[in-house]
Amino acid sequence: MLNSQGRPTAPASAEISWRDTFTGNRGLQLEEALIFETGRPDVSGVDLDEPAPFTSRLGALARDEEIGLPGLAEPEAMRHYVRLSQKNYAIDSGLYPLGSCTMKHNPRLNEAMARLPGFADIHPLQPQSTVTGALALMEALAHWLLTLTNMTAVAMSPKAGAHGEYCGMAAIKAAIDAKGEGATRRVVLVPESAHGTNPATAASIGFIVKAVPAGADGTVHPDAVRALMGPDVAAIMLTNPNTCGLFETEIVEIAQILHEGGGYFYCDGANFNAIVGKARPGDLGVDAMHINLHKTFSTPHGGGGPGSGPVVLSARLAPFAPVPFVRREGDALSLVEHEEGTQALGRLTAFHGQMGMFVRALSYILSHGSDGLKQASEDAVLNANYIRVRLSDLMSLPFGDKPCMHEVLFDDAWLKDTGVTTLDFAKAMIDEGYHPMTMYFPLVVHGAMLIEPTESESLASLELFAMTLRDLAMSALRGEKERFEGAPYFAPRRRLDETKAARSPVLRWAPRKPVE
Ligand SMILES: *Cc1c(COP(=O)(O)O)cnc(C)c1O
Repeated sequence: MLNSQGRPTAPASAEISWRDTFTGNRGLQLEEALIFETGRPDVSGVDLDEPAPFTSRLGALARDEEIGLPGLAEPEAMRHYVRLSQKNYAIDSGLYPLGSCTMKHNPRLNEAMARLPGFADIHPLQPQSTVTGALALMEALAHWLLTLTNMTAVAMSPKAGAHGEYCGMAAIKAAIDAKGEGATRRVVLVPESAHGTNPATAASIGFIVKAVPAGADGTVHPDAVRALMGPDVAAIMLTNPNTCGLFETEIVEIAQILHEGGGYFYCDGANFNAIVGKARPGDLGVDAMHINLHKTFSTPHGGGGPGSGPVVLSARLAPFAPVPFVRREGDALSLVEHEEGTQALGRLTAFHGQMGMFVRALSYILSHGSDGLKQASEDAVLNANYIRVRLSDLMSLPFGDKPCMHEVLFDDAWLKDTGVTTLDFAKAMIDEGYHPMTMYFPLVVHGAMLIEPTESESLASLELFAMTLRDLAMSALRGEKERFEGAPYFAPRRRLDETKAARSPVLRWAPRKPVE
């Protein structure tokens, strides 16, 4: 089907279905059955001799039925797993504009460093004297994290941003308990635009969460904090730049309000990529902040590898840092595993944290240098503003057309009366080969679309993305509802019942009953 410019348009859902081809495949996009459906118990990829006769010592425990594992020849097994790997859209396959997640390039140099046997093949239970190089690497990374943030101490062991939040808020709780105020200071202030992990962290430590309203400009105003401040307030958890992609300009005054009232300032540092080398949280009055190494420092996310969320602490909170940490005495390095008779809050993880991520993050920091880190932040902000300027004549900006930081937030006001929703728009992006942006977050904006291109994208790649979104936006504004209603048309799976998948997941495969 061609449109008036002779370009293909998405057919309406009724016209085409996945089963239109004989094989179920479309082009080279291959349908993949479960391995249990393609494998046969009588097939094996290996050729082993029959075992010599033996007497089983399992007695009644011995299995007397087929185990039912799928058997495949080696090429079949290989194809199955390679095809599955190709179903995963990743930063290595295309632009990944997921706001708040900082999906940036993971340089291959980091991977090469992480695979050096001296880092990759060591074990956390090895004698410390045999891993002094690894301790030196942890010390060097800690040094750079403290330098970039201008803070006093860093807890390296937390294994994700949310885990870092837990660590930082637990340190704040320990400090409050040490002052004998544990029973009275129970409230944590969290802006309405915060990531869901912030209130969840505060609540899981036993704090009472109170929402701070955002101003009409999308930032938190000191007066709103002052109105809630009192002897019951333990801390504020503030993200900067915030989840609307805006710099919290009143952050210093907000920190003062907390400190004067006897509270602490937790900064959610997930968006640190926008300010590395430009601003230091320690200069802004921050007491604790987690750093997502898997965002700002380019280590892989989620399925690509474990996260890592070191927490930097101010001088007021440093005495409450958890174990373990690296201690230097002259030339000697040791990992302090137990700190007796101190206020330290104990241990958060079995060992020392995510060693592989430490290697990758330090490799990223050293290979960029201070000028390179600063440029990465500047380019991330420039790229987001490029997208803002290219789309702001078509799509609506909830807080006015002013510069953003590393991500740009649109709302759905521009879609009013088109019959197209944020969800429809995002699904149509899949047909165009793009992973959708973050949708419906932050909650302070109706039908939010949060786009974070990161510094990884070239001008050509940004422009193609902008042109694609312009084409989709004009199509929506022209009332071409059918391009969106059933989208994605070209994906192997279409509109899934995501609620049902989350509420009643099918986690176990059972053979289909034979048809009678
Ligand atoms: C990603 C993110 C978090 C949580 O980090 P995880 O590593 O996913 O646990 C917290 N706050 C904000 C603003 C984030 O973007």
